[in-house]
Amino acid sequence: IRDRFCIINIISVYYLKYMFIYRFILEQIKRGYLMEELLKELVEKNRKFTADGNVANYIPELDKADKNALGIYVTTLDGQEFFAGDYNTKFTIQSISKIISLMLAILDNGEEYVFSKVGMEPSGDPFNSIRKLETSSRKKPYNPMINAGAIAVASMIKGKDDREKFLRLLDFAKLITEDDTLDLNYKIYIGESDTGFRNYSMAYFLKGEGIIEGNVNEALTVYFKQCSIEGTAKTISTLGKFLANDGVLSNGERILTTRMAKIIKTLMVTCGMYDSSGEFAVRVGIPSKSGVGGGICSVVPGKMGIGVYGPSLDKKGNSLAGGHLLADLSEELSLNIF
Ligand code: GLN
Repeated sequence: IRDRFCIINIISVYYLKYMFIYRFILEQIKRGYLMEELLKELVEKNRKFTADGNVANYIPELDKADKNALGIYVTTLDGQEFFAGDYNTKFTIQSISKIISLMLAILDNGEEYVFSKVGMEPSGDPFNSIRKLETSSRKKPYNPMINAGAIAVASMIKGKDDREKFLRLLDFAKLITEDDTLDLNYKIYIGESDTGFRNYSMAYFLKGEGIIEGNVNEALTVYFKQCSIEGTAKTISTLGKFLANDGVLSNGERILTTRMAKIIKTLMVTCGMYDSSGEFAVRVGIPSKSGVGGGICSVVPGKMGIGVYGPSLDKKGNSLAGGHLLADLSEELSLNIF
């Protein structure tokens, strides 16, 4: 009797164990499936907004982008990936590079030095505005997310010349986006450096004020090149995940201190969408950084990174349909950090 009881016992324990594993796997598949369906649905729902904006054309080559494109890539902290729409299209990360260069500049020089040269306040002005550089009482660019601040930050990257500085920045970008294939779009870089006259004027002004200490042209070259780094929605989604994980790579290696990760995420909330940051925080509520190439990199702390691509921009230079898509996703999955 005892033997029989024992066998029945063993069988039922195994039965329960396998039922549990089986159910768990089924649940995961179902969740993944629902997530992909949700992303697909939201991309198609929001694609219509691409008609209301325009692709950037002030930088040669950017106007070649497909205005109707819209895609999304989600990377969760537990290693799952979901995507929909034009998630595989390549685009230049433009201003999204400003968070990468800020991280490296702080690693190179320390927080105190960097923020002695650039502020932490939203400017309320367009990203390429010059006016506050001279009229405001503070003698430094308002924040590192507008062009003036980002050029000042680019001047702080260490290296013996602009080539070495940019290669260090590119290597760092490859590390934290976990994408070894990341590279420069040379045509866009040339286009930017041939036409970025406002950026030249701001950089020279900053040199005159002593904010830029080194060579101005080197700072500009690094800045134009970092803006011309090319990736996909997956690249910026992984970047978002890196920050969502507080500056720790997927393999567990810590690259940023928690404090640094916090600074970057906070500046994304307050300044990442330029003079739309306040409205974006209310509508979406997720730390994000946009670029005129059409990308938005979003960080859901402790949960996931989101990369959105939609090159049709609103008047302030942010992806129009991308913003709507993120607002919907934030609502659907309750991602609003506030
Ligand atoms: N390279 C662009 C510029 O300097 C970056 C601006 C942006 O993405 N908002 O104008």
